[in-house]
Amino acid sequence: MDAIRSLFRLASRRSIRCRRDLWLFVARTNVYLVILATVAAVIQSWHTDSETIVVTALGVGAIAGLLTLPILWEFGSMYLDLWKSTQALRDLASKDQQTGLLNNRSFVAAVVERLAAGRHVALLVGDLDRFKTINDHHGHPVGDEVIARVGCTLRDMFDEIAVLGRMGGEEYAVMIECPFLDPEIAHAHASALAEEMRRRIATIVIESDAGSVTPTISIGVAWSRPESTFSELYARADKALYVAKAAGRDRVVGEHEIEVFDAERTLARRQDLFWQPVPPVVATESDDPAVAWA
Ligand code: GH3
Ligand code: MG
Ligand code: MG
Repeated sequence: MDAIRSLFRLASRRSIRCRRDLWLFVARTNVYLVILATVAAVIQSWHTDSETIVVTALGVGAIAGLLTLPILWEFGSMYLDLWKSTQALRDLASKDQQTGLLNNRSFVAAVVERLAAGRHVALLVGDLDRFKTINDHHGHPVGDEVIARVGCTLRDMFDEIAVLGRMGGEEYAVMIECPFLDPEIAHAHASALAEEMRRRIATIVIESDAGSVTPTISIGVAWSRPESTFSELYARADKALYVAKAAGRDRVVGEHEIEVFDAERTLARRQDLFWQPVPPVVATESDDPAVAWA
């Protein structure tokens, strides 16, 4: 809400400034033209022979040229100012203020654009692990600092090679354009980048009064298919993220690995059912010897 309010405040302040600049520009131009016309009229009233008319025309032309320079300068600086304020407004509307990454709406728009153009992309969805505990132990401002530092780490790592977004809270998303058609190479490429992202985030250390904070992240990765929509692609990455959380957090899971994790979990559940450790039987003198033996 605060960001939206400051956006409107900035917009109204900018437009007032632009309107004032415009009136100033028109007033100055009029003054220049009046001076120009007066000079021409005075010279004309003094001399009427053809040579003087040519000299007058050249003189007025030169003066007009000189007077045009400040007008051009004025136009240039007005245009630059407008361009800067448009840029600032665009940044305010599309970026997340805490991390400098794209906000949810702009990130979705960027991915939708790539999908509509038929590009093959990988989507990494990451969520910081046990973030509530960080907030509870170290305080909300330290939690905010962690969110900002993770954003900074992502910007340093991916620079221009990916589209980065903060989807909300402590959830981040990265879209990588996939240059490889072979699915195995595509999987290896995005998974390696996701693993590097996880590793870099795990090296962040923030000192607080309550001790050191060392955040970790779980990441799910999904790849676009022909006819993929954003929500369908995001749902697959989110499912992989869920599996990464369930498998112990601080790890990367690609959607192609989900079946392996599911199989391992099913096996673990079966082992829980069939391989329960048998409680030791303690024999006493009064026990039936057959029971004690069993
Ligand atoms: P899990 O490993 O399962 O993800 O556990 P978690 O504790 O991280 O759980 P969850 O993702 O549900 O918790 C998100 C928490 O992040 C809840 C909310 O209070 C906190 N949070 C969301 N946005 C912000 C923020 O901008 N700043 C701070 N400090 N905390 C935030
Ligand atoms: Mg979390
Ligand atoms: Mg979360």
